Amino acid sequence: MTLIKELKIKKQPKQGMLENVLKQFNTAADLVNLNPNIKKILEVTNNELIIHFPVRMDNGNVEIFKGYRVQHNNALGPYKGGLRYHPTIDIDSVKALAMWMTWKTSLAGLPYGGAKGGIQMDPNKYSTSELERITRRFTYALGENIGPEHDIPAPDVNTNAQTMAWIADTYMSTKSPSERSKNQHVVTGKPIGSGGLEGRDRATGYGVYLTIKFWAKNKKIDLKDKTFIVQGFGNVGYWAAHFLELEGAKMVGVQDAFGSIINKDGIPVELLYEYIKTNNGSIVDYPNSNAILKEDFFSLDCDICIPAALGNQITEENAHKVKAFLIAEGANGPTTVEAEKILLDRGIEIIPDILCNSGGVIGSYFEWLQNRNGELWELEEILIKLEKKLNDVFKKVLQASVTKRIDLRSAAYFIAIERIEKAYIQRGIFP
Ligand code: GLU
Repeated sequence: MTLIKELKIKKQPKQGMLENVLKQFNTAADLVNLNPNIKKILEVTNNELIIHFPVRMDNGNVEIFKGYRVQHNNALGPYKGGLRYHPTIDIDSVKALAMWMTWKTSLAGLPYGGAKGGIQMDPNKYSTSELERITRRFTYALGENIGPEHDIPAPDVNTNAQTMAWIADTYMSTKSPSERSKNQHVVTGKPIGSGGLEGRDRATGYGVYLTIKFWAKNKKIDLKDKTFIVQGFGNVGYWAAHFLELEGAKMVGVQDAFGSIINKDGIPVELLYEYIKTNNGSIVDYPNSNAILKEDFFSLDCDICIPAALGNQITEENAHKVKAFLIAEGANGPTTVEAEKILLDRGIEIIPDILCNSGGVIGSYFEWLQNRNGELWELEEILIKLEKKLNDVFKKVLQASVTKRIDLRSAAYFIAIERIEKAYIQRGIFP
């Protein structure tokens, strides 16, 4: 199993992401003039589950793992969001990531709420069969806290289609034979052939590229010969780079968990992708590139910067050094509120995560529908549907930003929160 190796990119500040999402939410709530009672509901998470579960390792010993699932809000539909395997996961970071999912699904107009989860561990330390047992045991421990019409996990950092196949199989195995197949959509991001959607692998990165394309079109900027840098060369970073390169743009810097490389003349995306397969998933020592210090990465000369790794990467410390004119947030929460102020003051625009990386969850929605209706969709129609959906959302955000004279993130939050507020107002609070 190939794992996205993003483990040493940063020391994640413990409370950072939760503070960040709450600050963003509070700013947006003021902007929308959000009903104070609904604000009280949205600033907390509905359910928080922490599970300790034992797994037998290859050497016969038992190890105890800590797994999380946080369900933030389900006013618009079942909880939806990924599972990540990472040593820095803790309850606050999962809460933050679950909240971002609520805003993301609402903004995209999907019939979903927001959730997130994962296991606190370094997956690189375990064999494939250990990872399978860890995943299956975690799924079993989650029990009915997940479900195809209740809470639907998906891949995230260090999890992939294989992880989802194990989850689906475990969950379905706990059902009676006649109930099994109607539970296939308990997870999305499954392998094709096991209910997975054609193109779900590239959906997030393709979406990142599309939002950059829409943004550039609106600014009348030609992407040909524009330079870009990517932090994280996993699923999101690779596919975003792949499509940008097809458009004629040039990748001049890449950073992963193990190092940072540059080449002003361009690093060919496909060659780097082939190289990492032979280099334990790492970009380090790629021929025809120079290594640079990790802390110099965001100050590289480029037009577009794509953080596609973990949260809290662009901070007060490095925001004033950013040279790009556009930041496209492939990751969740890569820019702190303080950094965003500096960037906006400097005239640097940001395509916010809840818009920029929403291609992934939109693809998940297509997969969920496909499973639910017993259909099989073709790649071409999926990519067209994804482009149309993202274009509609992008236009709405842009329009709100222009008419209300606010930045793109505030505009995206405005739309997302207003939709949830409306649902609460229509339905009232039980009892
Ligand atoms: N993990 C992805 C995200 O952060 C996808 C979530 C999903 O498809 O449910 O948006």
